Order: sequence, then C-alpha cells, then structure tokens
Amino acid sequence: MLYVSTRGGSAPITAGEAILKGIGPDGGLYVPEKLPKMDKSLEELSKLDYRGLCYEVLKLYLTDYDEDELKSCINKAYDEKFDNPLIAPLIEVKGKYFLELFHGRTLAFKDMALSILPYLLKSAAKAKGLDKEIVILTATSGDTGKAALEGFANVEGVRIIVFYPENGVSSIQKLQMVTQEGSNTAVIGVKGNFDQAQTGVKKIFTDPEIGSELSQKGIMFSSANSINIGRLLPQIVYYYSAYLQMVTQKHISLGEFVNFVVPTGNFGNILAGYYAKSMGLPIGTLVCASNDNKVLYDFFATGEYNKNREFYTTISPSMDILISSNLERLIYHSAGVERTKELMACLNKNGVYSFTESIPGFKGYYATEAEAKGSIGEMFEEGYLMDPHTAVAYDAGQKFNMEGQASGKNIILSTASPYKFTEAVCSALNMETETNDPFVLMELLEEYSGVPAPKALSELKGKKVRHKMVCGLEDMDKALRQIIM
Ligand SMILES: *Cc1c(COP(=O)(O)O)cnc(C)c1O
Repeated sequence: MLYVSTRGGSAPITAGEAILKGIGPDGGLYVPEKLPKMDKSLEELSKLDYRGLCYEVLKLYLTDYDEDELKSCINKAYDEKFDNPLIAPLIEVKGKYFLELFHGRTLAFKDMALSILPYLLKSAAKAKGLDKEIVILTATSGDTGKAALEGFANVEGVRIIVFYPENGVSSIQKLQMVTQEGSNTAVIGVKGNFDQAQTGVKKIFTDPEIGSELSQKGIMFSSANSINIGRLLPQIVYYYSAYLQMVTQKHISLGEFVNFVVPTGNFGNILAGYYAKSMGLPIGTLVCASNDNKVLYDFFATGEYNKNREFYTTISPSMDILISSNLERLIYHSAGVERTKELMACLNKNGVYSFTESIPGFKGYYATEAEAKGSIGEMFEEGYLMDPHTAVAYDAGQKFNMEGQASGKNIILSTASPYKFTEAVCSALNMETETNDPFVLMELLEEYSGVPAPKALSELKGKKVRHKMVCGLEDMDKALRQIIM
C-alpha cells in the first residue's frame, strides 16, 4: 500500500514515510492510492477486542510495518490509560446510541488516534534509520493540542509545539494545555482563530527557507493534526468497534445497516467513517453535523464550498472551523487528483469552489446554539449528559430522522466529556450559577447531574501554568524559531 498527495505533487511513498512527513510537499494531504477491503468477515471480527480489531484494520494500511512492531504500537496505545476496557464503549439510552470516544487521558476523541500516533511515528523513524530530531507542529481548536501534548510529552527525539487560538478554546481546554509538563513541550497562544492558526502551521510546513534551516540543524517537521494520515487511520477502528458492539448488545443483527452521526470540524472523524464504509462496513448514511459555522452543511446541500463568511465562536469550539482540511481527501477519492488540484487552487485563491459531482452517502445538518443547548437539556432528562459537540450531533440526528430518510439505527459519536465545557453545559441545564470559575462549575455540575467529574480535570486546579507565550498571526514562524533554533 502506497500513499500519494491529493494534489499529485509527491511520488508514491510508504505509510511510515507519509506519517513522518505529515503533509505533502505541494500542500496536499497523503491518501492511500486505493482504499483496501476488509479481509475478515464481521463474524470473525466480532470475536476480537479493540486491540485485535485495531490490528486487523491497520495491517491493511500500514503494510510497511511488520506484525510484531504494529502489535506493539497497538498494545502500548490502547491500555489502562483508557478508563474503560472497551476503549470506546457504546451506550444505549432510551433507544438512542452513543459511541463514547472520550475515555482516554484528555477526555476527548482526539485521544483515540493520538494515543497511537507517537508510536507509529517513532517506529517509522527507526525503520528509516532517521537520526533527525522530529518537531511535531500542531494547530488546535482545543482538543487536539492537549491530546498531542500528552501523547508526545517526554518521547525521546521528539519535540511537540502546539498553537491554539488564544480566545477560541474553553477555559478547561486552555488550562489542560498551559499546565502541560514535559521538557519537550511548548504551547503558544495565537491572536487569531483556529483556521488562521492552521493556515499558519501549513505555511511553516511548506516554507522552503525554514525547511533548509531545519535540515541544517538535523530537524524535521511532522504533524499531529488530522492532515497526518497517521491520525486518520486509527479512527477507522472505532467505527468497526461501534458496529460490533451494536451486534453484541443485540440492537442490530450482523449485516444490518447503521448510520453514524458525527460532530464535524476538520472532517477527520467522519472521513474515517467513510474509509470504514469503503472497506465494507455496513454503513448507510454518514450524517455530518455542524454548528453555526455551517460551511459543510452548505457544501452538502449546494455543492458550493465557501469559506468567505462570518466566523462564529460557539459552545462547541472544536467545530469552529471554516477550512475543513480533510474534505480534500473526500474530494480526491470522489473525483481524482486533477479535480482536487483545481478546486484547492480555487479555495486558496478565492476562498470558494463549486463541486457539483455527487458524493453519495453523506447528509449535512447543523444546530444553532439554542438548538444545541436545548438538546443537552432534552437528553439530560432522558438520563444522558452530553457535551456541546455531542449535542450538535444529537440535534442533527433528530433532523435526519425527521426528514424520514433514515433507515437503520443512528449511532451518535459522543466526542468529549461534558466536564471539558462546564460553562456551556451548566448554562444549557439552566443551573443557577454565580460564577464562571471552571472548578466551582465542575463541582456544581457533579452535584446536579450525579455524573462524576473526571479526575484528570479536577486535578488541574492548582497546577502550575508553565506556558505563557502568546504571538500574533504574523509571528508564528518567529515564535517557532525562538523555541527550536
Ligand atoms: C475535534 C473534535 C470534533 C471535530 O472532529 P473533526 O475530526 O475535526 O471533524 C468534534 N468534537 C470534539 C469534542 C472534538 O474534539
């Protein structure tokens, strides 16, 4: 299995090389030349645990990793650092199905892939006999940053640098990042939004001057964002796991079709669902849920992708994105390299493109802030406490059902612990609170809901702030140089 850039500017390379590089030299994203088919039956897969499933999926993509090596990466990633032995448990609440992806160390779905990415990367570096220091550059809308910091902290030969929008993340998300320990970590606030931070990082990646300075110093860049194919592939696994748990819990029979409702920002999570479907998993519709930044909703409704619009800061910050990077991969798989190149050039130049070819199997919906908050209240009455991102998905699922197009059960991807967003959740539940101190809110929410606050979050209280650097959008490269040169 070899990987090429969506924009055609890279010779085919191995998975390990693609993971090390992170992004194509032409600014495109690495994709498998051809999506593989699952070579085991659902029946056979149903006997495996999460790690076993993970191996069966990844071995089809990471063909340059040998069996022992890959198994070792998997075993080190999906262990007791997840607080549930199923890793991603499927929960049924009054006929609604939630796949909980927040049982890792940082309490959001980013842990699903970022627990294994460092091992895949180190392994690839070792196989290539690479003696360069690897600098992981990451832009975050809130959750990736912390998950990447946890994954890479104190990993030898690697440094991790995270840029986050200074005013675009929740207070808990920010605390999680700025208190990060580990001598190889750096966290920088950026005066801008996520899109701008991500664009800045992509620019640094492809800047030839920085590139040559780095190689002189024996340093190479890689990425922990979902532009890295090593982020995407491990996410396929939980679609399989969700499906098989639906079967073992007797909600569906083997072979029955299900839909997944995915709260979407950078399109990485839902794209992994598309890969699972292409591999043969019985998925009907992939429902793409957006918040007020509904660029993807408009895209699926009209074929026009237009980032020239107002940017909203919402209660689901990890979805406050107007440049949804991984959509480029879907376009590539649907229409090929020439068309992708053409459309991405349009996007870079004018901020808009039109793609009228059909992409079957997707449906977009969006939830307003009021609808998302209403959903948190509604589902809490039913006995389940959702975070605001999951609430956006819940609302989208309701709209999908209402249109009467749904056949098959919906599985809602529950992407974060509600305790990462206490302010929004308390307000959605109309709780009388006189403070916005995140730790007081945590205690109040615990009392009110009966759902215990995760220790990793309550422990943040009193932790030392170790990262105070802030920079302007124009100075991201300067900030970077200050840290690594
Ligand atoms: C990152 C994130 C999302 C969006 O996922 P994408 O892969 O960027 O589409 C949704 N919810 C939460 C909690 C997240 O952290």
